[in-house]
Amino acid sequence: MMSKKLYNCIIIGGGPAGARAAYELSKKTKNIALIDYRESLGDKLCTGIIGTECVEKYGIDKNLIFSEGNSADITNPGKKTFYLESKEPKAYIIDRIKYVQNIIQKAKANNTEILYKSRVTDISFSKNDAKITFKSQGIEKEILTKSIILASGLENKLINKLNINSIKNENILNGSQLTMSYDTTPQIENTKVFLGSKFGFQGFGWIVPTKKNEILIGVLTKDKSRKILIQFISELKNEFRLENIIEKNIKTWGIPIQPLEKTYAERTLVIGDAAGLVKPVTGGGIYYSQISAELAAETIEKAIIENDFSEKSFSAYQKNWKNLIGGEILKGNKLRDILFGFEDKKLNHLTKFTFSNSIISNILISKSSSFDNHFKSFLNFINNESIINIFTKSKSSEIKELIPNLKKKIF
Ligand SMILES: Cc1cc2nc3c(=O)[nH]c(=O)nc-3n(C[C@H](O)[C@H](O)[C@H](O)COP(=O)(O)OP(=O)(O)OC[C@H]3O[C@@H](n4cnc5c(N)ncnc54)[C@H](O)[C@@H]3O)c2cc1C
Repeated sequence: MMSKKLYNCIIIGGGPAGARAAYELSKKTKNIALIDYRESLGDKLCTGIIGTECVEKYGIDKNLIFSEGNSADITNPGKKTFYLESKEPKAYIIDRIKYVQNIIQKAKANNTEILYKSRVTDISFSKNDAKITFKSQGIEKEILTKSIILASGLENKLINKLNINSIKNENILNGSQLTMSYDTTPQIENTKVFLGSKFGFQGFGWIVPTKKNEILIGVLTKDKSRKILIQFISELKNEFRLENIIEKNIKTWGIPIQPLEKTYAERTLVIGDAAGLVKPVTGGGIYYSQISAELAAETIEKAIIENDFSEKSFSAYQKNWKNLIGGEILKGNKLRDILFGFEDKKLNHLTKFTFSNSIISNILISKSSSFDNHFKSFLNFINNESIINIFTKSKSSEIKELIPNLKKKIF
């Protein structure tokens, strides 16, 4: 079944990337549609933590924020816990599903068509348009469009239709998470991060409070996260009086931490997770999904005005995201390798030295450290004179040589 209408742009995927792209584009042009196979948009595995920069830039309704993240407990492999607290929030724990749906509603109010429960199965191109084939309630349908924004997340089978190499498995982190109830007083009020080799290669674990008596417990690793999560929860069970694990409720999903070599093709731009645009250290992708969506909307607007949907003109999109976040992603990957490369014994030593020192802790929670720019924050840290002084004066050779060693590895 082919509709005769020619759309200006079809957005495939209605997660944070697709939702933002639809909204930004709906402010600039008409005849756009968003297609997603889900009924409940935004309902994909995620912890829902975004940094303050993301909130300042893109806004969020206050009622979609579960809590402000201005403190965290960090537990090292030796089970010693350090408490960090900043005056201003560094991040927000948000209701991710409602966040996405709120953006979708704004796009809808600007006349974007939203096609729910519709899975795109094919994309093909001709001289004057692109054809999108999708299945909705068992019926195959086709629509024509001048341009496509591919925001399909990690389910990147459609990338193959664009002659773009997909993201290699070694560049995909594996995350598992479970929403759990607990029964302790006082309530768990801050985020808890757990480090160490028990979380697998380059892995870490977390507890994030959302609603009253409810937490998210998760693991992100380059190994198999599900098994590690089950073990992790069983260790925490007594401490927080957690409900019994219902294994089938554990959700697992991947996070790409290296971008595609090419995030554009004729008539098509790739954004968000589909393009591999994620903060590599934590695996947080919401902020970069918003940035890439906004840049894609600008590129499409220009293409519509100039009637130029060529690969050459779309290459500007890649230049633009590289200018804004390319350096952070590239260096962030190196930083991830370094930070998650310490053996447990060394990590115990380093965390004890770092977090027990009030000057270092204060710098870590100061404005020079941002949840949105990990590499920039790391640079601020290793170039801070007080930090250099404290580390250089240490009697431990491991600590003394840490900053010069880090500099050697990162540059
Ligand atoms: C365990 C875990 C925890 C995380 N925690 C955080 C966090 O705290 N903070 C953070 O910033 N990031 C976090 N992330 C990452 C974050 O969830 C992603 O980076 C973000 O969702 C990317 O948005 P997206 O719109 O690009 O992709 P997605 O959210 O994956 O959306 C893609 C959409 O495309 C649709 N789709 C796919 N294929 C098709 C098709 N063929 N036809 C139609 N529709 C299709 C899907 O249904 C989906 O709705 C986490 C990820 C995991 C796995």
